[in-house]
Amino acid sequence: MDPMTTNEQEFARARGAMPGGVNSPVRAFGSVGTTPRFFVSASGPRVTDVEGRAYVDLVGSWGPAILGHAHPAVVKAVQDAASHGLGFGASTPGETQLAELLTARVTRDGARPIERVRLVSTGTEATMTAIRLARGATGRDLIVKFAGHYHGHSDGLLAEAGSGVATLAMPGSAGVPAPIAAQTLVVPYNDLDALREVFAARGADIAAIIVEAAPANMGIVPPAHGFNAAIADLAHAHGALLILDEVLTGFRVGPAGWYGIDPVPFSPDLITFGKVVGGGLPLAALGGSAALMELLAPLGPVYQAGTLSGNPLAVAAGRATLDHLDADAYARIDAAAARIADAAASALSDAGVAHVVQRSGNLFSIQFTATAPTDYDTVKAQDAFRYPPFFRAMLDQGVSLPPSVFEAWFVSAAHDEEAVDEIVHALPAAARAAAEASPG
Ligand SMILES: *Cc1c(COP(=O)(O)O)cnc(C)c1O
Repeated sequence: MDPMTTNEQEFARARGAMPGGVNSPVRAFGSVGTTPRFFVSASGPRVTDVEGRAYVDLVGSWGPAILGHAHPAVVKAVQDAASHGLGFGASTPGETQLAELLTARVTRDGARPIERVRLVSTGTEATMTAIRLARGATGRDLIVKFAGHYHGHSDGLLAEAGSGVATLAMPGSAGVPAPIAAQTLVVPYNDLDALREVFAARGADIAAIIVEAAPANMGIVPPAHGFNAAIADLAHAHGALLILDEVLTGFRVGPAGWYGIDPVPFSPDLITFGKVVGGGLPLAALGGSAALMELLAPLGPVYQAGTLSGNPLAVAAGRATLDHLDADAYARIDAAAARIADAAASALSDAGVAHVVQRSGNLFSIQFTATAPTDYDTVKAQDAFRYPPFFRAMLDQGVSLPPSVFEAWFVSAAHDEEAVDEIVHALPAAARAAAEASPG
């Protein structure tokens, strides 16, 4: 390593070069009141900062590092691909193989909602394209989204968009033209009556509902039993589509994503993927029936393109990651996640802090409230001021948590007993710090 710098020095320098010193807002640690760590390497369950300090990591690059950081098979696949050329701006066999993997994996009770796939580079692009496709297919303009759900940063989807936006306490974003914002109807989550009212009033103009399969961008708020099935039916009854956003949950909570484990089976029309599917490199995807997907150019009238779409390095990382996500990997992730979630809950109980730990499969987060939040309003009503001292106490003890209470904790298949032990041992002091926190 170069002569050592400190995180503080790196952050000061970064702020002179990039707005807020970052390339994505939550990285600035704005809501946790400490200096962001600048990382230089990562391996398995650990990341190492410029000061040479290692942390057990529960961010996992926000999901992609599901096998652990720098998994040897993924690194080797990327190196092999790189040695054959970084990209051609033309088709490659690997893209087809990755698309076939997605088609084969996303299945339930014989149903196969994905017959065709388009690869893109970010989750934002995947949801943006899914929405254009839904509009093109239905000839309608309106989109329904749920408050607190995050679908990337395209103009129409930033209204009440959870995590980053919640952390910054912004209502949405400046720079979104009012006529575009007006095409998005925002409904409280888990509230079927509110959704029915919206459809009763505007149903003939609604192109699609977009929903996080199991919301994880306002902290974890599980769907009410049968909610996804009910909204699918409601959309279909009105000639609208259901866009299931699995950018975060896809291939994380199980081999077929949340679609595969929701207690009540349902039929989405389009599904978006990101994060895990790129294995740590920029790759995302959308998929659906052949009839819908073939409305995309070059076959159909809905335009979409990308210079780096299906990049061979990203495809190689994605394929290697999916290849190693077998039943054993999921079992390890699920078990480690359960142990950490249970330990967090008992540490907070012991410290006398009102809390709930909500789970959606192996995703979980803590919320500082006695009653489990069911939507964005109840999420925001928690004692969020308890999180910064909790977060800092964990960081001081060598555990890197998501730097916002409105984010999920990401466990990987590399979180072995030793790594989980470190987290479990750090929790009681953090819970006590949360107990001592005061508002304002
Ligand atoms: C992360 C995320 C996105 C956006 O993906 P990017 O790759 O950051 O553009 C969209 N939807 C959900 C549910 C996400 O978690």
